[in-house]
Amino acid sequence: MNLLYDNHSRPLRYLRLGVTERCNLRCFYCMPEEGLPWQNKEQILSYEEMLRLTRILSEMGIDKVRITGGEPFVRKDLLPFMQKVIDLPCVNKLSITTNGTAPLSTITEMKRMGIHAVNLSLDTLDPKRFAKITRRDEFDKVWAYYQELLNQGITTKINAVVMENQNVDDILGLCQLTLKDKVSVRFIEEMPFNGGSKAYQAIRWNYKYILGHIQKTFPQLTKMVDHSSSTSYNYRVADAPGTIGVIPAYSRSICATCDRIRLTPKGELKTCLYQNGGFSMRDFMREGASDENIKDKFLFLFGRRTRNGFESEKQKDSGSAFESMATIGG
Ligand code: SAM
Ligand code: SF4
Repeated sequence: MNLLYDNHSRPLRYLRLGVTERCNLRCFYCMPEEGLPWQNKEQILSYEEMLRLTRILSEMGIDKVRITGGEPFVRKDLLPFMQKVIDLPCVNKLSITTNGTAPLSTITEMKRMGIHAVNLSLDTLDPKRFAKITRRDEFDKVWAYYQELLNQGITTKINAVVMENQNVDDILGLCQLTLKDKVSVRFIEEMPFNGGSKAYQAIRWNYKYILGHIQKTFPQLTKMVDHSSSTSYNYRVADAPGTIGVIPAYSRSICATCDRIRLTPKGELKTCLYQNGGFSMRDFMREGASDENIKDKFLFLFGRRTRNGFESEKQKDSGSAFESMATIGG
């Protein structure tokens, strides 16, 4: 296998591929109620273009791919595209992040193709609170999706964004799931990437605060050995089948081992989540770049990666609005 490194000697292994910015939910921490100024079809990468860039990256050393968005299942023909990605010889793991509102048959299909893991976004176990947060009444569907993922034995992670005055009462209930289910429940710090949905205030519920809160109820929480490039700090209640994690998405204490790059739905390469904009691989490709040209361009961009998310944020024009996680590819 090729090994690919950035200018800070960090290996790059992981591509997060945003296949659409559209979504059937309207989580208020992600996008405004009216949605976003959606791109038209031509502005978004075609599946052929995504597959080409993914193949080239996989030949360079990226062997893990996560499909994300927006809501990936909102894009037509997603499953046949995922099959093509998994069939690429150098891709070892394919995962997806979804809001869990797609038909349950998608789980059977993903299992058949050998999906590595499914991350399900679920911020609350209370249907009313779910409707308030997502601005859609779809809790029952998402809960059924969760149950089916477990029934089919798919490696499942729940992502919950923790928001003051919204869902902090759900933290312990979500932790309780790990006592009976083989699930990894991960609490994410809220980030400013809400596409102008709301003003962003400094967060009190950072990963340390969340952890302290959990430890009051589960003092026997033990720290696990995390994978070297893990985005979360992980814990387990003794003998529980599941695990509990905290993701320092805003504190950015994990940048030193970050192995991730992103391709946004419109084909921008982002080498950091906090980067403003990104190089348009779409335009480069459409101007006729060969595979060799594309490889060279990737290497050029990987050689100029910022050290961390704070450095990236500093490079942002002051006053420019934060994008939505849906346009970045969360
Ligand atoms: N629609 C899919 C979903 O919700 O799982 C995939 C895309 S969504 C943008 C990916 C992840 O980003 C979700 O787990 C969501 O909770 C998270 N996210 C979105 N906006 C966020 C924000 N402002 N801060 C922290 N996490 C956020
Ligand atoms: Fe949609 Fe996911 Fe954003 Fe919620 S977090 S609005 S489900 S893209």
